[in-house]
Amino acid sequence: MSSSARSDEGGMGVGLLGLGVVGTAVAKAIVERHRSEDPSVPLNVVAAVVRDTSRKRDVDLDPSVISTNLDTVVANPDVDIVVELMGGVDPAFDYITKALEAGQHVVTANKEVMAKRGSELLATAAENNVHLFYEASVAGGIPIIGPLMNDLTANKIQSLRGIINGTTNFILTKMAHEGADFDDVLSEAQSLGYAEADPTADVDGFDALYKISVLARLAYHTEVPVDVIHREGIREVHAKDFRYASELGYTIKLLAVAQANGESGLLSRVHPALIPLDVPMASVNGVLNAVEVEGDLVGPLWFQGPGAGPNPTASAVMGDVIRIAKGAPSNGSSSSAPKPFPIASMDDHVCQYYIRLTASDRPGVLANVARVLGDADISINSVLQKDTDIENGHADLVIMTHPARESNMQSAVSSIKELDSVLRLDSLLRVETYGDRA
Ligand code: NAP
Repeated sequence: MSSSARSDEGGMGVGLLGLGVVGTAVAKAIVERHRSEDPSVPLNVVAAVVRDTSRKRDVDLDPSVISTNLDTVVANPDVDIVVELMGGVDPAFDYITKALEAGQHVVTANKEVMAKRGSELLATAAENNVHLFYEASVAGGIPIIGPLMNDLTANKIQSLRGIINGTTNFILTKMAHEGADFDDVLSEAQSLGYAEADPTADVDGFDALYKISVLARLAYHTEVPVDVIHREGIREVHAKDFRYASELGYTIKLLAVAQANGESGLLSRVHPALIPLDVPMASVNGVLNAVEVEGDLVGPLWFQGPGAGPNPTASAVMGDVIRIAKGAPSNGSSSSAPKPFPIASMDDHVCQYYIRLTASDRPGVLANVARVLGDADISINSVLQKDTDIENGHADLVIMTHPARESNMQSAVSSIKELDSVLRLDSLLRVETYGDRA
């Protein structure tokens, strides 16, 4: 089907797969454009597929448009652009594939399918000479895919670093500002609708992992499978860690990072990290998202804005739809085949570490810990002793190390846990490196 095809109501025909939070906002935006008779890009919702047609939808669509019948969208000759807003891999992957094979352009906000099966889908789009655009799949309303795909193509990207999950940023910001515990803030986030009843995708870092996989593939023109990305969530971050981090000049954020290092290759990682209080990322609070891109020609760039929500996400989806409707050039770098790029091991990552232990409050404990660290080639930068519990003879020992290799730190941690004088190793957090300082 050519991009100039028109649905029988006039304008380009759009078929929606999903009419939930984002689908409804996109349908509303199209209905508004249709009403305003924008002559530049006439669009029309031809059909919308949902799971449950009895659900009330907050958009003025003729009920006959909404059904559970996939054929009303995929391979329908009146549908030029399929907008997939269901989420997940199954059945989204099959539906998108069928639409592309039928010669329909596809726009999706689905980070999971783009992370896990994106290369196959992009290849199918290229084979069928149609577009597959996915700006909304990462960082909601923030334009980041477009700049990486177009404006920054002359650059070698040195690093991508982002806060790209609004739910965890909301939780960590509350913990930092109010001294609240993770479980309490998670419950509040759930009652406000910022976190799902099952928060796993967000708090265990999967959502951020899918997004950094999508960004890394684009930035480094290579396949970055989700299982090569190091992932840790925020369940183990405690209110105390914010207090101690702040005394040391840091806050804690869930970072998603992809960094190319000439010798070891591309390392992608998602984990909570201490970041200096005076870098811009430290002030990205609440549900906001931010992405920092460093290119060899352009230097550092900063993108910040709403990373989710119906209207910001609809803004990104509609941008892609309108680009296609206006006749975007076919098969640019969006569909280029990934080239092999060496993938680095997390074991070789080097950074400073923050360690919090509950230890016996007696002489020689620090010397024992220092010896174990020294045996692993790790030296101590600073130490805080805090919250001494005289009755039970315990204290918190907070240790900042000098830069060390991840594999050395992991083996030191195993040995530290075996020391008689160490009751618990409560936290091990990485310190993000900025320039020549931590
Ligand atoms: P949602 O509110 O749960 O909506 C999903 C929609 O898909 C619903 O209309 C549902 O039908 C329909 N659906 C699900 N499975 C289906 C199936 N097997 N067959 C037919 N219809 C099916 O989700 P959302 O929040 O709009 O998110 C949609 C996509 O956008 C996801 O990929 C998400 O990651 C992405 N995204 C969301 C946001 C955000 O702020 N929400 C931001 C960025 C990206 P029923 O209505 O009948 O249940």
